[in-house]
Amino acid sequence: MSMRDNVPLVQTVGLRRYFFSKPGFLARTLAGQRERTTKAVDGVDLFIHEGETLGLVGESGCGKSTLGRVIVGLYPPTAGQVLYEGRAEPGGQMIFQNPYASLNPRHTVRQILGFCLEKRGVPLEDRESESVRLLERVGLTALHLDQYPRQFSGGQRQRIGVARALAMRPRFIVADEPVSALDVSVQAQILNLLEGLQEETGVSFLLISHDLAVVHHMSHRVAVMYLGKIVETGRTESLFENPAHPYTQALLSAIPRLGKTKSARIRLQGTVPSAVDPPPGCRFQTRCPHKMDVCVEMEPRPVGVKGDPGHVVWCHLRA
Ligand code: SF4
Repeated sequence: MSMRDNVPLVQTVGLRRYFFSKPGFLARTLAGQRERTTKAVDGVDLFIHEGETLGLVGESGCGKSTLGRVIVGLYPPTAGQVLYEGRAEPGGQMIFQNPYASLNPRHTVRQILGFCLEKRGVPLEDRESESVRLLERVGLTALHLDQYPRQFSGGQRQRIGVARALAMRPRFIVADEPVSALDVSVQAQILNLLEGLQEETGVSFLLISHDLAVVHHMSHRVAVMYLGKIVETGRTESLFENPAHPYTQALLSAIPRLGKTKSARIRLQGTVPSAVDPPPGCRFQTRCPHKMDVCVEMEPRPVGVKGDPGHVVWCHLRA
């Protein structure tokens, strides 16, 4: 194994992203409300190797998308670091859930791709041929160059979104729910496209998805996020076959066909607490069927799952 193999392509170290909001005049004076801090990402340590896909799962509002945006530099971190090959330099591109909203409706494909190529320093005279090459790579053609986003189907728009990300020749891409806005029949085509790109170029992905079947199919490793924190991470097969955290067990019990777990569906009581005022100790304690006194008093530390290298869980039950 070379030195390069040892250094993750992307690593987050104690990454935090908080959002601060001030209440309006009436809320401040009549209800006595103060500034609110939403802890969307609250101390995340992750790594992704070259050519690897890390799937990131969790309920909506758990901070997955914010984490992805901080990693590619769309949001600055409140604390902590994002490292690329061990250096604190921004990098990576993003593929968004809704390709229509992320493409400027007044720009043609030529303009959309040309802007990225200009940023990459591609000379003007080479931009058309490079744009055509990108379009062909994602299954479109030169005939699409002068069309606007509204003239494409949802699947074609996502292909343009992929081409735009590729225009920067990234080694790392955050794909945020890349197929959830698409018809089921088109989803497989886009997933195959992403898999093919990885085989061809060795690009790494952080795949954010609420669809566990998609994550199971695409990811080498999986991280489970709950209320701003990672609660479990491991190789895809071992995490799906042997989930160690009560939250992961509940998530996976909804789709028993993916894992070997034959247990009945675990229905969690209660709702996800607010990231403005997360519970003390373990953040899952308000919904956990195994809650103990220590869960309220102390935040769980990461514990390795026995006999399964790389499988780590944050839960007092495993300590
Ligand atoms: Fe449940 Fe306690 Fe484990 Fe949290 S630490 S998941 S509350 S058992």
